[in-house]
Amino acid sequence: MNPTATDCCASPGQSLLSVAQGRERILQAIAPLDASEQLPLRAATGRILATAITSGIDVPPFDNSAMDGYAVRGEDCTGGTQVTLTVIGASFAGTPFTGEVQAGQCVRIMTGAVMPGGADTVIMQEQVERDGEQIRFAAQGVRSGQHVRHAGEDTRCGDTVLAPGVRIGAAETGLLASVGIAEISVVRRLRVAYFSTGDELTGIGTPLAAGQIYDSNRYTLHSMLNRPTIECYDLGVIPDQRDAVREAFRQAADMADLVLTSGGVSVGEADYVTETLEELGEINFWRMAMKPGKPLAFGRLDNAVFFGLPGNPVSVMVTFYQFVLPAIRRMNGENPRDPLQVQARCTADLKKAPGRMEFQRGVLETGPDGGLTVSSTGMQGSHLLTSMSRANCFILLPAESSGVRKGEWVGVQPFADLY
Ligand code: AMP
Ligand code: MG
Repeated sequence: MNPTATDCCASPGQSLLSVAQGRERILQAIAPLDASEQLPLRAATGRILATAITSGIDVPPFDNSAMDGYAVRGEDCTGGTQVTLTVIGASFAGTPFTGEVQAGQCVRIMTGAVMPGGADTVIMQEQVERDGEQIRFAAQGVRSGQHVRHAGEDTRCGDTVLAPGVRIGAAETGLLASVGIAEISVVRRLRVAYFSTGDELTGIGTPLAAGQIYDSNRYTLHSMLNRPTIECYDLGVIPDQRDAVREAFRQAADMADLVLTSGGVSVGEADYVTETLEELGEINFWRMAMKPGKPLAFGRLDNAVFFGLPGNPVSVMVTFYQFVLPAIRRMNGENPRDPLQVQARCTADLKKAPGRMEFQRGVLETGPDGGLTVSSTGMQGSHLLTSMSRANCFILLPAESSGVRKGEWVGVQPFADLY
């Protein structure tokens, strides 16, 4: 990444980079981590699978009953009349019946118990009248083979049950356990170092002096980075001094695969992030056609990927979810996918000027008619963290949009999918 050659969007007058273009360039520039570790199943929750998993068994491993009832021979249940059979034993889950069912016979069977030899059909116990060792039921309506779960119906021996890049959630953990796998290889955790920049920032726990504000960005970042796939390092608040910023960059690059900073990426006099990245690493500086989050520095610092996020708290969150999260997923080896987007009807007019794509904060709800509606959280300044806190979604307004009228459809990105 040569600063002058790729810095196509930094000069005033040149077109801004779209959100989609930015994301594409970021994903092109980074590669998945090439290291994995072996973990016991329970410790792997939330991690990304590094190798394909093949089943060594059929699941279920044997034909078994889907109901509590009686295992019978389907051929004994033909004709339109009553069937009478003799009970010759029982098959419990875990304790199979070892004999063979002959014509005119049946076996008491429980859900999950092995189908006895000779039987291929189960009659629910509710449909049976039992008298001593005899059962009676109507043949009508009995379908040969009914209520039997077949070996290998879920997974066959030799099947690939999970591919690399899959995130291990509850279903995957259960699936792995069902094929008897106790340990898996997962992508090693991504090391992320981050710091805030700004002379005005005070740590919480200290009273504010004149002109000071509390540093909130390190707290939102900590929370957004709190994932099983990440190990994070908080490097604190760095003052707006060239040497201090340089030192923090060096320290971060030494310890991390990914370095995030907030603030200092604009063109103000105390903005040292961009020039330090240019000096110590490789930089792309982009003016993004988005609101909030216009300036974004992206590049490389030694072996680490670097994002210089804007300083405003909402901009930090928006750029994190739109650019850093896809990068994290790529580095973690996760299968690429776009965040879920749904359409909802606006409950009121939304103001917007054409030019930049907006990520307004909204509340997505199920309306009275069962359809989705979305309403704005109100004021949309990039310094208003309350607008994020009240929201459960981003309302996506395309660059060319000049606002939305009440009742029109808009694209919405639910926060629930931004994990
Ligand atoms: P900057 O890009 O450094 O000029 O910052 C833009 C705005 O975000 C300024 O109003 C800063 O005070 C504010 N800001 C920067 N860093 C933080 C932070 N860590 N927490 C809260 N606000 C911040
Ligand atoms: Mg600043």
